[in-house]
Amino acid sequence: MSSLTLPVSTLGTPRIGPRRELKTALESYWSGQSSADDLLASAAGLRAANWARQHALGITSIPSNDFSLYDHVLDTSVMVGAIPEIYGWKGGEVPLDTYFAMARGSQGHAPDPACAGHHHHDASGVPALEMTKWFDTNYHYMVPEFTSGQRFTLASTKPLDEFLEAKALGYHTRPVLLGPVSYLKLGKSQDPTLDPLTLLPALLPVYVEILRRLAANGADWVQIDEPCLVLDLDDATRQALRVAYGMFAYAQPRLKLMLTTYFGALGDNLDTAVELPIAGLHVDLVRAPEQLDAVLAKAPSGLVLSLGVINGRNIWRANLADLLDRLEPVVARRGLDHVQIAASCSLLHVPIDLEQETGLDPELKSWLAFAVQKMDELATLGRALAGGRASVAQAIGASALAATTRATSPKVHDAAVAARTAAVTAELAQRQSGFADRHALQQSVLDLPVFPTTTIGSFPQTPEVRKARAAHAKGVLAPADYEAFLRQETEAAIRWQEEIGLDVLVHGEFERNDMVQYFGEQLSGFAFTKSGWVQSYGSRYVRPPILFGDVSRPEPMTVEWWRYAQSCTEKPMKGMLTGPVTILNWSFVRDDVPRSVACRQIALAIRDEVQDLEKAGAQMIQIDEAALREGLPLRRGEWGHYLDWAVESFRLCASGVGDATQIHTHMCYSEFNDIIEAIAAMDADVISIETSRSKMELLEAFVSDRYPNDIGPGVYDIHSPRVPAVAEMTELLDKAAERLAVSQIWVNPDCGLKTRKWDEVRPALVNMVAAAKELRSRFAEAAE
Ligand code: GLN
Ligand code: ZN
Repeated sequence: MSSLTLPVSTLGTPRIGPRRELKTALESYWSGQSSADDLLASAAGLRAANWARQHALGITSIPSNDFSLYDHVLDTSVMVGAIPEIYGWKGGEVPLDTYFAMARGSQGHAPDPACAGHHHHDASGVPALEMTKWFDTNYHYMVPEFTSGQRFTLASTKPLDEFLEAKALGYHTRPVLLGPVSYLKLGKSQDPTLDPLTLLPALLPVYVEILRRLAANGADWVQIDEPCLVLDLDDATRQALRVAYGMFAYAQPRLKLMLTTYFGALGDNLDTAVELPIAGLHVDLVRAPEQLDAVLAKAPSGLVLSLGVINGRNIWRANLADLLDRLEPVVARRGLDHVQIAASCSLLHVPIDLEQETGLDPELKSWLAFAVQKMDELATLGRALAGGRASVAQAIGASALAATTRATSPKVHDAAVAARTAAVTAELAQRQSGFADRHALQQSVLDLPVFPTTTIGSFPQTPEVRKARAAHAKGVLAPADYEAFLRQETEAAIRWQEEIGLDVLVHGEFERNDMVQYFGEQLSGFAFTKSGWVQSYGSRYVRPPILFGDVSRPEPMTVEWWRYAQSCTEKPMKGMLTGPVTILNWSFVRDDVPRSVACRQIALAIRDEVQDLEKAGAQMIQIDEAALREGLPLRRGEWGHYLDWAVESFRLCASGVGDATQIHTHMCYSEFNDIIEAIAAMDADVISIETSRSKMELLEAFVSDRYPNDIGPGVYDIHSPRVPAVAEMTELLDKAAERLAVSQIWVNPDCGLKTRKWDEVRPALVNMVAAAKELRSRFAEAAE
């Protein structure tokens, strides 16, 4: 093995530990079982292990300050002292409990995982900061909150502390900072007139100070992340970048800044980026391989280019020979000391180590690379580019072999699926009649009252339900006993729904672990890991399914459960499915076919299920598309294409039924103003959405001329344990009736109830039915 290498970097590593050590340490601290010192010692251990692992694998630009106890945006807020008043910080060092109060509220209630992007108030105590998605990933960050006249101060020296910590262990690291412009743009203010960007002059001195201290302590390179550079930017933002980086170059002329961009192409921001007085520029060549030529053409010859060629967002093994074909000419042209090789973005978004997956099919496993394997790929590329391919011939050969077997494997390629997908016609995505005709027919069959009541699908996942599932998974509870238990729970939920007078019932989803995993496990083309955890937010991690091959549905997935549930009642029982776009957006997806093609395959599989439910007698089928909106591309110009195939996929799965079958959908948000045409084009007979927290304001998008179909604007905020009173819900329904036709309105909570307790759900739904009845009687009087 040659020691000659180009500089190689991960840009950042997973923080959670291969055995979820961080989660264990956090939860033990939060529950009072261990001390702050214990927590900090565990965290230091994870950092040391990360540095050691990268060093051993041949990473040369090892990051520090990529670690976080909770979230790196929150860390940045704490670093610059942007701590809202309610957290009671009086200056000085920021206490750990203040940090966690910002992260999760002071009562120890974690933000609700079901729907991000809102404040999560607790009746007493301090609410957490708002949380929302980090660009187009499934990682969520804590939104910085600014006031007008916001002051900044260096309140935490975490970047320096961790640089010194690594140095003491013998690692010379490249500290990572979230750049000031992206940081401000990720934040918001209660004061709508405050543009966070105007706070830049106040913020910059804090950054200058931390850079000064890093330089004074021996840092030569600092990585500054400005992912905002892949977004549509206005001139003010571009100017802000010039001001910020101009100031850094002036204040610290010898410190080399690697400005990192990721999650897309620089596009129309390329000129701005290459003109900044920086030493290095990182570009994402996985998401935007096509930008390489433009970057090479425009980058000044003195600029070090960091080429992000190993996918930090997905789990596929790279084809090293292919990459070298692209990289060698670049190195030849720019010189060994002006090129670095890196992951496309931080490895935060992939699981840690494939070697832990002892249960995966060995062939599939040979096609994958998690963070540790990606580090190895990076090091191999660095050596091949500096020392020649021969120095790493074996690794290159192994990766080529994996690429070949994957490209031809019957596990991946199913001719029947390919033929079926290719044969899709426009008619397949078209209901037999338009909404008005369907509506009339459905109404005559279903005979529902006005303001019909229903719920979104799940009922509380009680400790008993979770215990039974775990026992069944361990093999301690026999399948027949588990099944009997689930039937009992389902029947009880149905009896109770009948008792309180709901019009359209659900079976409660007690048999489901997760709304995507449940389907992925029954579809071919998906695989599941044992330890492939990825941080979703704070101490919440998810194990996304791996979509590796053509998708088909070997057998009905939900029909037996639906049949059982319907057999318990005379009332209509909704079939309950997860939609293709949501299954796609919450999985690691194939990189060998376009997302649109994979989505269409899933849509056809779900379509089979929809048709089987109809055959079994279901009159209503709900297809949840919780993640449709969050899949929107970062650049506006790409929205149309995404929405076209996403909507087509939904229609494809929903349109195989007769006019009398009522298709419902549900989405966990309601900010649809900018995409309402696409939502309307889905043509679901009924859509249920969130709106209770915005007091129906968000319904504006759905005013009848823009959205003719039925709508259930959530009247009960399931993200809070509070039980809404009847009057609160009638008030919301009145507001809805001002905007929508009465015949359009359904009455339902704003999301599934699985995270709530029965003690909360019972009185809330009793009140919800009473509210609907009150509106009904008022409406009947008005009609007389
Ligand atoms: N049917 C699902 C449930 O009720 C929907 C969940 C969601 O939209 N996040 O749990
Ligand atoms: Zn929801």
